[in-house]
Amino acid sequence: MLDIQKIRADFPILSQKVNGKSLVYFDNGATSQKPQVVIDAISKYYQEINANIHRGVHTLSQLATDAYEESRVKMQNHINAKFSHEVLFTSGTTFGINLVANGFASILKAGDEVIVSALEHHSNIVPWQMLCEKTGATLKVIPMNDKGELIMAEYDQLLSDKTKIVTVNHISNALGTINPIKYMIDKAHEVGAAILIDGAQAVPHLKPDVQALDCDFYVFSGHKMCGPTGTGILYGKEAWLNKLPPYQGGGEMIKEVTFEKTTYAELPHKFEAGTPNIAGGIVLGTAIDYMNSIGFENIQKQELELLEYGTQRLLEIEGLKIIGTANEKTSVISFNIEGIHPYDIGTIIDKLGIAVRTGHHCTQPIMNFFCIPGTIRASFAFYNTKEEIDLMVEAVKRAKTMLS
Ligand code: PLP
Repeated sequence: MLDIQKIRADFPILSQKVNGKSLVYFDNGATSQKPQVVIDAISKYYQEINANIHRGVHTLSQLATDAYEESRVKMQNHINAKFSHEVLFTSGTTFGINLVANGFASILKAGDEVIVSALEHHSNIVPWQMLCEKTGATLKVIPMNDKGELIMAEYDQLLSDKTKIVTVNHISNALGTINPIKYMIDKAHEVGAAILIDGAQAVPHLKPDVQALDCDFYVFSGHKMCGPTGTGILYGKEAWLNKLPPYQGGGEMIKEVTFEKTTYAELPHKFEAGTPNIAGGIVLGTAIDYMNSIGFENIQKQELELLEYGTQRLLEIEGLKIIGTANEKTSVISFNIEGIHPYDIGTIIDKLGIAVRTGHHCTQPIMNFFCIPGTIRASFAFYNTKEEIDLMVEAVKRAKTMLS
């Protein structure tokens, strides 16, 4: 059993008042809050070892390089990658997806196909559309059912020897659906296609094992898992990362530069041009240590309880409809109230200290599918409580009365 009050004390922001009310933070899908150890580690880096990495022989540069590379190994162990050079530091999920999509421009040709799903964040749609425009490849979309679950029979039909890459999220940010990615990975490989998993919404809740999954790429952001903004990881299988061209040119990513020809550095540096977010990369390791100290089994147990309790309590409200009722779901509840715009509810409950996300959640195709302008999304983290859910339910009831 987690001692939630003890955990909450690790997060200074959670004891703040917002609009004169105790903060209830249910916008974890957008970004998580940061524990004191993470906040401290950022200032410790700048106070004690700030220097550029991989370049200097001086002590601080070596200390910073060691800390950065130790963090890479921590991330490698966390996701069970075979080699640390398969783990690239990025600025986040969006960067990682763009890096891979850009690389595939050198592989795809007209007539090839890219498969995305109807459940994707814009970050996992637009880079692939741009890739298709550039190469003449065709974008195919796996449809979903009314519960917000991808239809696997349709996926099977879409796959063919024309499929070059499949890209799908592990967990949907808008609806919380957990996708059957192991099945999807195996199916993609049966037709010789590569597969990228957008793990942005998965890593705050679970520990992915990229070798057991056998995915070709797995991308995520640090800021959704207690880490700093502007951090992220792109895992890629060694063979794929060797095959793809560099994404950006510059310092760090070269072996030798002449005006006639430049050769590129070995992995992972080939994909890490320029001075990276050194503090961020190091502190991402601190965030992972923190989450592992809580334990992902404990995190899942707590969040599942919140999901069940939140679903039951919200459904007490007349006219409230939950969008996304997949059988496999994480702790996200997207909902609407008949006749009321989600923004209006979001604005009123913010005055009562409740932070939820309203709008299309960067998933306009999902909103179009359900013929709605947006939803109110409450996304829970392990540091949230049932008492906070009660406060949200009361606030939503009040807002509904005001707006009806
Ligand atoms: N993919 C999913 C499923 C997301 O939820 C998000 C962010 O909300 C992203 C991609 C983009 O992540 P970032 O903005 O950190 O690059």
